[in-house]
Amino acid sequence: MEALKSDGSAFIQAYSDCMRGWRHGAEDAVKISKLATDSGYWPIYTIRVEEGVPTFSYYRGLDIDKDKFVEYLQSMGRFRHLFKPKFRENEINEIIFQTEQRNNKLKGLIEQFGAEKPKDLYRIDRKELKTQEHLLPGHGLCPGCGAGMVLFQMATAAYQVAGNNMIYVNNTSCSEVSTSKDNVTSWKVPWVHHLFESGATVADALATAYKILKVKGLYGKPMEEDVPYIIHIGGDGSTYDIGFQFLKAALIRTSTFMEMSELLKAK
Ligand code: SF4
Repeated sequence: MEALKSDGSAFIQAYSDCMRGWRHGAEDAVKISKLATDSGYWPIYTIRVEEGVPTFSYYRGLDIDKDKFVEYLQSMGRFRHLFKPKFRENEINEIIFQTEQRNNKLKGLIEQFGAEKPKDLYRIDRKELKTQEHLLPGHGLCPGCGAGMVLFQMATAAYQVAGNNMIYVNNTSCSEVSTSKDNVTSWKVPWVHHLFESGATVADALATAYKILKVKGLYGKPMEEDVPYIIHIGGDGSTYDIGFQFLKAALIRTSTFMEMSELLKAK
């Protein structure tokens, strides 16, 4: 909800468990997701930028707990080769080292710009929330799929802020194919599928088009007064991989996002 209310774009990176690809039981999805944070693999933090200066707040997960990290790796079939036929300590230590290096960069930024701690824990009474009407049951995501849980939570948050005045742009991914099977869709609000890499550009173009219509006085009744909120849903392909340049460009065009380094000084 905070991201949706921010001035300009906001970026949310959510840990989304894939029990089929990661090879574990559906019933373990939540337990493994919690272990990802408890082990230090997936820190939970927020960066808020005001007048060009970032402020960090984080909840936990910046320090590695080696025992829990090993437990995390062991909990998924995809890492079985690290434990059978023998315990591959060097490879496991290398994964932990790489994760520590990444967390140290984040710690460096927090040291440089300061942080509020612990603040980044959102506790919400679900009973106070209206039930979302964006994504309906009947989609084909696997039972226990993290993407399904994330989509439902995201749609619930979006519904509190924007009601049904919402457009989703969805890159090619499990969430896309599973919610738009054949000629039926699980989305009750406008939803656009776009290529693996360029959803962020399409979302930015849609948002810009609506803003131009509004500025020109061409956006009004019978359409709703407020221009729609746009959410772009992407997986690792459209954020870390081939779509990174599109995402980065869209964020920088439409908000106060910038490149950050621990060598920068706060002013
Ligand atoms: S639907 Fe979800 S759990 Fe199933 S393969 Fe896709 S991401 Fe993985």
